[in-house]
Amino acid sequence: MRTVQQRLDDGSIVEANTGCRLWIKCGKSTGYGFIVVNGKNRYAHRVSYELAFGPIAKGLFVCHKCDTPSCIEPSHLFIGTAKENSDDSVKKFRNPFGEKNGNSHLTEQQVISIRADDRHPAILSRSYSVSRRTIELIKRGKSWDHLTTPICLKIWPRGLKAQRLKQVAANVGSALVDSLP
Ligand SMILES: [Zn+2]
Repeated sequence: MRTVQQRLDDGSIVEANTGCRLWIKCGKSTGYGFIVVNGKNRYAHRVSYELAFGPIAKGLFVCHKCDTPSCIEPSHLFIGTAKENSDDSVKKFRNPFGEKNGNSHLTEQQVISIRADDRHPAILSRSYSVSRRTIELIKRGKSWDHLTTPICLKIWPRGLKAQRLKQVAANVGSALVDSLP
């Protein structure tokens, strides 16, 4: 039986120029690699980081110095908070536009703007170059729920009952507002 480290080694190739160790079986949409460990599908770069440096504290991200999501080379990885992760993306010009995949690379400021923007999700999806699902998750407080921003009630989400919206707002610690400037 191969160890997890052997599986990581066997499932990746070293890119000679950059020293990146690229995970071969990567998700098409996000570029991140996955590996099943103890029955769970996990990010390959996080598993690789843990094997090299030990457990990752809850809520922290493993970021890439090399800006290559499929890279699992431990020396290319560092621990960051969600904010550092997004700042990092901004610094490397992955943000804010140009990525059409469902994986959000938005800054916190953009997420705040999206929450406050009552245009239709399809329009927001286009103007922020993220998937409509990403917009909807942000709107419902399902992603970026560490951000305590007001959720706009005025138009969005039309289908949701006021009661449900209050729950959502309570869950993400946001004030519920009728309209935003
Ligand atoms: Zn790398």
